[in-house]
Amino acid sequence: MALMVASAPTESAELSAPRAVYIHVPFCRHRCGYCNFALEAGRDYLIPRYLAALRRELELRVSANGCRVDTVYFGGGTPSRLDGRQLDELFAIVRETFSWSAESEVSLEANPSDIHQDLARCLAQGGVNRVSLGAQSFHPDKLRILERDHDAATILRAVDICRSFARSVSLDLIFGAPGESLADWGLDLQRAREVPIDHLSTYELTFEKGTRFWNRVLRGEWSPANEDLRADMYELALDSAAQRGWEHYEISSFAAVDMQCLHNITYWNGAPFWGFGPGAASFIGGCRLTNHASLLTYCRRLEAGLVPTQTSEHLEPVRAAREQLAIGLRMLCGVDRQEFSHRWGRPIDDGLETAIAELQACDLLQENDARLKLTRRGILLYDGVAARILAPH
Ligand code: SF4
Repeated sequence: MALMVASAPTESAELSAPRAVYIHVPFCRHRCGYCNFALEAGRDYLIPRYLAALRRELELRVSANGCRVDTVYFGGGTPSRLDGRQLDELFAIVRETFSWSAESEVSLEANPSDIHQDLARCLAQGGVNRVSLGAQSFHPDKLRILERDHDAATILRAVDICRSFARSVSLDLIFGAPGESLADWGLDLQRAREVPIDHLSTYELTFEKGTRFWNRVLRGEWSPANEDLRADMYELALDSAAQRGWEHYEISSFAAVDMQCLHNITYWNGAPFWGFGPGAASFIGGCRLTNHASLLTYCRRLEAGLVPTQTSEHLEPVRAAREQLAIGLRMLCGVDRQEFSHRWGRPIDDGLETAIAELQACDLLQENDARLKLTRRGILLYDGVAARILAPH
């Protein structure tokens, strides 16, 4: 299947004004055993305080109202955890500062069991036109292991409801759950192919330090899927997308024609973006800003009239260029030599001559039409490719 060259929504220079906004909504019903995101589980009473703090953050950090943006992404956590009135307020807060057209991409992450007709009306009114559903699996046993509160029928109902108002519906699926076989994963992919969606993201289950799943591995109750099985599962996802005629456009992302997630492409292209909410990161003017991840610290700082930034890092140009190359390679269309050198004022392999030559010799990187891109083997071993680029000596 030919790979399309995806383009960023508009701007590409890191010093231009951001055209993408991320809003972190840090609430979930319950913390899944594998999750280490910045969020509050079972503390919905903090939602009004969060909304007031978010309004204050936008007032403090964005000097001009009405900034035009091309993509807005409500992520979490679980933004659909908010009720209709709270979502109305959330959308109003963001609209007070940013404006966008009907063609813009407005995404919201949702739990399938939160989706019902009233919520759909609220999302449609708020301008949401892309919904990313955290399905994770269609198997009851796997969903139970992953501590998810929905079943396959709930996913199908949620997709139907979302299709009634959104122009794009995406599913997230996880592979490599404890005890999952290649055949089990094949059934999940088959079910996903039968569902009328436009986009699929597949993630390998990771066992992050400090999570309950990590502790179960430490106690010897579970063992992560072995490397060969994980590679086979990943390759099965590639084959499944190809069977559907979809484009594999980023390591974990598959889409029907013209249905790539433009917001995420902003990140992979290294374009500037705003991020608001606890733990959210921004990249503006060559500077990476990260907010305090604790919701209470975030709220307290804003209630005291202080910005909630915890770290601010100005990336020196060589570092920024290397990071951009490493993250840009996540896109299967790769990185264009000429665009890269125009943007960064240095050739793509400046200081990386040996590293890139070695990665090519090991069949991890290839070059076609002056674009540097991952090979099939490089896709499977991306972490090693990125590490070699970020630490070339
Ligand atoms: S629903 Fe998603 S964000 Fe919330 S705890 Fe589970 S994995 Fe984490």
